[in-house]
This record gives sequence, structure tokens and C-alpha cells, in this order.
Amino acid sequence: MRSTTSELNWSGTVTYTAERVLRPASVDEAAEIVARSPRVHGLGTRHSFNDSADAPGVLLDLTGIPTDLVVDRAQCTVTMGAGTRYGVVAPELDRAGYGLHNMGSLPHISLGGAIATGTHGSGTSLGSLSTAVRSFEVLGPDGSARTIARGTPEFDGAVLHLGLLGIVTRVTLDVEPTYRMRQDVYGAMPWDTFTAHVAEVQAAATSVCSYTVFGDEITGVLLKSRVPDGADDVDVPAELFGAPRLPGSPGDGHRTARDGSVGPWWDRLPHFPIESVPSHGSEVQSEHFVPLRHAAAALDAVRTMADRIQPHLHVCELRTMAADPFWLSPTQGEDVLCIAFTWQKHPAEVAALLPDLEALLAPFDGRPHWGKMSSLDPSAVAALYPRLADFRELVRGADPDRTFASAFGERVLGT
Ligand SMILES: Cc1cc2nc3c(=O)[nH]c(=O)nc-3n(C[C@H](O)[C@H](O)[C@H](O)COP(=O)(O)OP(=O)(O)OC[C@H]3O[C@@H](n4cnc5c(N)ncnc54)[C@H](O)[C@@H]3O)c2cc1C
Repeated sequence: MRSTTSELNWSGTVTYTAERVLRPASVDEAAEIVARSPRVHGLGTRHSFNDSADAPGVLLDLTGIPTDLVVDRAQCTVTMGAGTRYGVVAPELDRAGYGLHNMGSLPHISLGGAIATGTHGSGTSLGSLSTAVRSFEVLGPDGSARTIARGTPEFDGAVLHLGLLGIVTRVTLDVEPTYRMRQDVYGAMPWDTFTAHVAEVQAAATSVCSYTVFGDEITGVLLKSRVPDGADDVDVPAELFGAPRLPGSPGDGHRTARDGSVGPWWDRLPHFPIESVPSHGSEVQSEHFVPLRHAAAALDAVRTMADRIQPHLHVCELRTMAADPFWLSPTQGEDVLCIAFTWQKHPAEVAALLPDLEALLAPFDGRPHWGKMSSLDPSAVAALYPRLADFRELVRGADPDRTFASAFGERVLGT
């Protein structure tokens, strides 16, 4: 019988079935492993809540390859190893005079994993982290490298790839001049006020996160506001549709500062500092994206399940994300509201809830987060992603012998 690694994902809810995990120290070593392995699949920092990073054979963990940051000031790009964690490289980018357009709540994740799944922060005018990708290098089944760059025909199909196109070794991202931000906390807002003004609330700052447990109110709103270039601070409202601004809290090693103090982008965009144990520490997550124009109706629909949701919920975070053209992107074609459930670590109960929850969101074209729990199968996914057949074709062309194939790809995407 084939042995398995018994290694786990971050939440401890997925046991990888691969035979082994290898952690090369260089791109050359990674290429040699790919060339000699009949089955191999890319592994990031294991923060996904599903088995998208698992596959038979070898899992290739790229976090041991040095970051090797290269700044191209003429092109306004940075290039680095795909196993790099955002939170590790961000201060270095800042020192070099640059900033990223956005970050996820968690700085612990790798670039490779975040980009492959369409990971995002919040901001109605900000795209997912994948939208910063200018180009990336990927190892094909024979271990040889090729570069896929923005503007080439396959780029839009290849950026969100879930490890199915090869092993991504280096990533080049757009950067902009460094900037500073502040975070401010606002109090509760009645549910009906929020749903009547959801797009305005979510556009009240550079990046906005609203929280609820699907009772009578939004329990709080977090505004992340960018300080204009050359200014010392930025004005923020004293109240938000009646919700007062609260004193917030200074950064404490568990959360980034939420007290209105101004700090570097990388210490305000994420919710958690890199040295923290992120979020609730004991949790699973699912997340569902609906077009922003359906936000209020979709939230009202989910709330009809409140009595079934609440016993398992830590909190639900509502964010927004700008449209992009990527074939597998949950925000492909239209700006979205992101409905992110941080559940208690009740994976079986959450899995049992998801078909009904996703059925409620189906009339609003609710798309799942590729790194989180979902019950959707290839036919449901095909109905939500008009370019899914093209993606399958792209995978067949890049990986004819299915070296990089995964059970997740087969079960969810039909690849
Ligand atoms: C506490 C917590 C908070 C989170 N907050 C957010 C959030 O704010 N926003 C959000 O959108 N998501 C969030 N997530 C989800 C998370 O961002 C995604 O699951 C992301 O994919 C994790 O990146 P990773 O490096 O751990 O990737 P993994 O989980 O290791 O892998 C994810 C996918 O990427 C592929 N992959 C990884 N590296 C490579 C590579 N080098 N080459 C080829 N394929 C590769 C894998 O095969 C797999 O398909 C959160 C997760 C946790 C645990």
C-alpha cells in the first residue's frame, strides 16, 4: 500500500495524502525533483482549508528557496521566490521605497499559494492579490521553466491555477511608491441600515471590512484609509451611517494597530502581524463571492439560515473586491461582495451546512473561494465560470500526462 505523509494543513483539518513533502533549497533543485517525479504538486504555506494543495506523489514546498528580491525601478516591479511569505518581504519592499496595492488579512501566506487561489484583501477599487502579477515562472512536467507574462494569450487563464499548470518558482509583481495608512474601528450598525447602504459603507475608505453574526446588526466596521502622498494623516469620518468611531486598540502582537495611528501599509492592510497566531487559531473558513449589485439580497438570504449558522460561527467578515479578467477568478467580470465565514473548528457540521448555504447564494451567482471549504462540483462551477472549459484545455496543453493533477482539480473543476 502507498504510504502517505500524514502531514496536515494549517487548520489541521486536511491530511495530505501525498507520499512525501520535499522542500528544495533552490530553483534548480526544484526543477530536478519535477523532472524525475511522475506526480508532483506545488505546496505553499498550507493555509487553505481544503485539499487543493494535496496530490499523489510529491508535494513541493517552495518556502525553503531564498526570496532573492529583485527590484526593477524602471518597470516598477519586484521579483521574488514564490514560496516567500508576504509579511516577511513587505518591510523590505517598504525600505526599498515600494508598496503593494493590497494584502490579505493574513501576512503568513506565500505569494505562490495566494496568487493560485485568488486570495484578496478588501477595497471596492482594489483587485485581488493576483491582479498585481506581471509575470511568473513555472516549471513544466520535464522540469524546464517558462515565463507567463501579462499580455500573452494564456495569462488570464493561468494566473489562478490551483497548482494544475506546474510549479511556480518566481513571481513578478507590480509595485507603487510606498505609502502609509491608518485603521479605525466603528461600532454597530442596524442590519437594515447596512444592507440599504452596503456599497457606500464598503467604499467609505481604501479598504473596508464589516463584521456580523447575522443577528440584527453589523457588529462593527473596520476602515483602512490610505494617507495621501505628502500628507501626515487622512481625515476619517466621526461616524458611519450612525455608527460611531471607537477608540480602537494599539497594535499588540495579535492584531495590527486599530487606533487611528498612521503606520506603514504592511502594518495596517493585514489584520494580523506576521509574528501572531492568526485569526481565531482554531477555525475553518468558507467564503462566497456575489456581484456587488446583489449584496443586500444575498446577505438577507444568508440571514434566513442564521439559526443554523450561528452555533458554528466565530464571525462573518464582509469585504469587497474589484473585477478582474482572470478565467478562474471569483471576481471575474464584476465587482463583488466577499462573504467570509470564520467558523468554529467544526468541519463536519460546516460541511453539512454548505450545500444549503451555497444553494441560497446560487440565484446570486455565488462563487466559492478556491482556498476554503465548499460543496460545489464541476457542473455548478461550470455554470459560474464561463471560461472553465478553456481552463481545462489550458491544463491539458500544459500537462498532457497529468503530472500536476490533483483530486481537488478533478472533483471541483473537472480537470
Ligand atoms: C487565518 C486565515 C486567514 C485567511 N485570510 C484570507 C484573506 O484575508 N483573504 C483571502 O482571500 N484568503 C484568506 N485565507 C485563505 C488563504 O489566503 C488561501 O488559502 C491561500 O491560498 C493560502 O496560501 P498558501 O501559501 O497557504 O497556499 P496553500 O494552501 O499551500 O496552496 C494553495 C494552492 O496554491 C497552490 N500552490 C501553492 N504554491 C504553489 C506553487 N509555488 N506552485 C504551484 N502551485 C502552488 C497549491 O497547489 C494549492 O492549489 C486565509 C486563510 C487563513 C488560514
